[in-house]
Amino acid sequence: MRIVRTIAGMRMLSRIGPVGLVPTMGVFHEGHLSLFRAARAECDTVVVSLFVNPAQFGEDEDLAHYPRDEERDLQLARDAGVDVLFLPAADELYPAGFQTWVDVEELSKPLEGEHRPGHFRGVATICLKLFNIVRPERAYFGQKDAQQAAVITRMVRDLDLEIDIRVLPTIRDTDGLALSSRNTYLTPDERKRALALPRALATKDPVRARALLNGLDVDYVEVAPFDPPVLAAAVRIGRTRLIDNVPLSGGDHE
Ligand code: AMP
Repeated sequence: MRIVRTIAGMRMLSRIGPVGLVPTMGVFHEGHLSLFRAARAECDTVVVSLFVNPAQFGEDEDLAHYPRDEERDLQLARDAGVDVLFLPAADELYPAGFQTWVDVEELSKPLEGEHRPGHFRGVATICLKLFNIVRPERAYFGQKDAQQAAVITRMVRDLDLEIDIRVLPTIRDTDGLALSSRNTYLTPDERKRALALPRALATKDPVRARALLNGLDVDYVEVAPFDPPVLAAAVRIGRTRLIDNVPLSGGDHE
């Protein structure tokens, strides 16, 4: 596996066959690994980017504390057959004077957008930059972040990018909690309380889901008209904010 830390280094790599890109923020779990494996199965060259993107964090969010474990991530990526791990530096991606942003206007407004102003502007911009640097034929995203997948799919269509966006099912722990790097923040007691989230969503009914989340600090529980439509929710457990969703049709995204 090649480890590349600069944009120039990434551009210099020789391209063999279709390239698949998996954008991540690291601390790999089975959710990430499922994307790596899908890319491995479908592409000749698998590139994983690991970049904790400051532009998608709000001022009062967890950027400084976001979990990191580069050594472990290197090993997991290597074991999953990743060809290139791209670890760019923030000051190269956002040089002094940076002022060009991608805003997927309507899809970025509700749900996460309402509670995390500017989040999707940061996500869309970094994804377009990574697409320009890596030039993949396919890019892989998790259904876990359904609104993110919808925003990126829309951006690719609106800006005529020649990239196939592949969205893969949410991977869950045996107790039903969707895997997330942020789960590492949860105390054992908080983790137990967090199980209300997948249980509520499993009803596929916003009214019943809201009732099951009663007593928790809920940002939203709503049906969102993505493709496929989802019942999506965000809750705060202690200082940790968790999001999850279940598709309401088109079963293969479960
Ligand atoms: P992150 O590192 O959290 O930014 O996630 C990188 C990619 O992995 C995104 O496309 C996420 O949607 C996806 N992902 C995160 N958690 C899961 C999960 N539990 N199942 C499937 N995909 C996931």
